[in-house]
Amino acid sequence: MKLDAFSQPIPLRPKSPRTLRRWSAFIIGILVLFSYYCYWGTAPRIVAPSTFDLHQTLISVPSYEHVRNWSAYYTSETHVAGQGWKQAQWTQAKWKEFGVTNTTISSHNTQLPLPTNNQRIILLENDRVFYEPSLVDANTSAGFIPAYFGFSVNANISGSYVFCNFGSEEDFETLAQHNVSLAGNIGIIKLGNASPYVREKNLSIFRALSVINAERAGLIGVVLYTDPGNDGPITEGNGYKTFPAGPARPLEAIERGGFGNIEDENRDALPKIPCIPMSSFDAIQLLSMLNGHGPSAKKLGDRWQEGGLEYYGVDYNVGPSPPGFSLRIINDADILDTQVHNVIGTIPGKTDELVIVGNHRDAWGPGAGDPGSGSAALNEVVRSFGVALQQGWRPERTIIFASFEGEEFAQIGSLLWVTKHVDWLRTSAVAYLNVVVAASGSHFHAKASPLLYSAIRSATDLILSPNQSSAGQSVRDVWGGNITPAGSGDANRFMSIPCVSTVDFGFSPAVGEPVFPYHTGFDNFEWMDRFGDPGWKYHVTSAKLWSLMAAHLAEPSVLNMSVTDYALAFQGWLEEFKTRDLWSPEVDLKVMIDLVERLSRAANRFDSFARSLKESQCTLWNFWTKCGQNPAISGVNKVYIAFERQFYYEPGLDGHTDHHHVLFTPSAWHNTPLAMPGLSKSLQKGDWKNAQVRPLFADIYRVMVLTKTEMERYNN
Ligand SMILES: [Zn+2]
Repeated sequence: MKLDAFSQPIPLRPKSPRTLRRWSAFIIGILVLFSYYCYWGTAPRIVAPSTFDLHQTLISVPSYEHVRNWSAYYTSETHVAGQGWKQAQWTQAKWKEFGVTNTTISSHNTQLPLPTNNQRIILLENDRVFYEPSLVDANTSAGFIPAYFGFSVNANISGSYVFCNFGSEEDFETLAQHNVSLAGNIGIIKLGNASPYVREKNLSIFRALSVINAERAGLIGVVLYTDPGNDGPITEGNGYKTFPAGPARPLEAIERGGFGNIEDENRDALPKIPCIPMSSFDAIQLLSMLNGHGPSAKKLGDRWQEGGLEYYGVDYNVGPSPPGFSLRIINDADILDTQVHNVIGTIPGKTDELVIVGNHRDAWGPGAGDPGSGSAALNEVVRSFGVALQQGWRPERTIIFASFEGEEFAQIGSLLWVTKHVDWLRTSAVAYLNVVVAASGSHFHAKASPLLYSAIRSATDLILSPNQSSAGQSVRDVWGGNITPAGSGDANRFMSIPCVSTVDFGFSPAVGEPVFPYHTGFDNFEWMDRFGDPGWKYHVTSAKLWSLMAAHLAEPSVLNMSVTDYALAFQGWLEEFKTRDLWSPEVDLKVMIDLVERLSRAANRFDSFARSLKESQCTLWNFWTKCGQNPAISGVNKVYIAFERQFYYEPGLDGHTDHHHVLFTPSAWHNTPLAMPGLSKSLQKGDWKNAQVRPLFADIYRVMVLTKTEMERYNN
């Protein structure tokens, strides 16, 4: 596909004006200036820089008291996707009260599953109920519903059960090598999602993938639970008390999650075997029944060593379950016609370019961390810009705030909103700035398109870190500056459908910090207040960073972006293939390396030209050529905006018709897949032919040629 900025000639550097032209320009300019101010506001809105400092406002408004109040509200009652109308109305009213008067609710029809009372897991001894795990871990009087997996298939099945570790392809291969019977059985599998310890050990796997692998291995159903072994040192076995008495994971916590949305369901793209969640408390009962039955997991290799239930008497034999004992899974959810409600607040800018700032509002339970910390921080961002508006400030670009509903169901709320506005977003969106979890620990992460690196760096440089080891350290000093490939939550939809540049950032736990009870009934206000973010400093820090990133992109007339950062990121990604030993003489990546070098030179020249426009001061004498009306500036901005769109690949990656970005693959906030997913996956699998011929390679190559040519227009 081609975009306007690349298919139409970009205005080149204007020639020096002659005196007569300068004077005409001056007169016309005065008229333009006059009508401009008339349009954008009356005299009090023209704010002198000496009396109003936007940055100072954005970093002084967010407060601990406010974020704490917002968190208390959002976590107080159920707001799982489909039940979000009340909190949408409340959010709309707040944003209007903050001064963003153009705030509307954009509702979309969809279908979402709700579990019925029939949902059960039962351990049977012959036909007798031997033990029945509970599916409730949150305060049901506040309307929180029993634990379930979104869009797991309805079924009533029974069979022997086996322990399958994290349910990766390697885990199933290991079980097959040890002749463990899998076909027709039910798998008990550990979730490997959000834990920093699991990530550090390289054991991370997305829940749906475990179930898909189980299905391929011939299992008929899956029970997923979160093992305390995921929590590294913070376990009861190591002397830590469980929440609420201490920082360890409560054994009763049940981790929920989604497998997809109604569109995935309708196109038959979801696992065909049922899956139901369970607590560690119940895993102890079921797994200890396997003691002495089948191989010991401890003898199955490194991947199988992280069992945290030994302290409670589980030996981690893999089974199958002893004769006479079986498991029954009844997965029973009604798929109901419903609506999701996105709250959309708009501050009109002086140009039609857009900077979008968003988070999701729906949660599996109370959701203090995911997404309540993001929602509380977003309210402070909106309140900060509201204060600026009251001072008479207006942004250069339009700023849109979005509180999406339905992220937990494969981002159905943002998917419907993005799809509805896709042409507008393609033409005008500069960036989408996302936060899923603003606060749940001290570790800062940023996942972004390289075009947004400078926004992230400048914001994290300006804000002091809440955990300084020496006085005066900024967030960037403590963090170190490593930015991983774009993705995460609703950012996935902006990135994958119209190919808008995105960032997702926030703070999550480091290994050794209190365990984040992600997607459980214990991700509640009390946990956040006492363990996740005592003092609410990370909420406030996230709000300030978010506002500064938005201002960095929305304010300057020449976009604060860098294509040189993109070229450097390419070099880094290709280098990573080398360090991960993915490189092979079978694939000629040299052609790409050469091209990246050429792109880098062209990008440098382009960025320098853009910088020269930025550095030009806007005075009464030169504003015709140097200020916002300068066609060179709008030309440069168009190139920056269109750059990301060039990675759009119409057919979609790996058969996913809505994953159009060739460089980034959709991911959860806690996962960081490699960039260039098609190419890296082919290299990982040793599928050299695929790596060479697939559009994954060819398309990136094409984009580089195209962008290089475009950048060379500025080679003078
Ligand atoms: Zn979530």
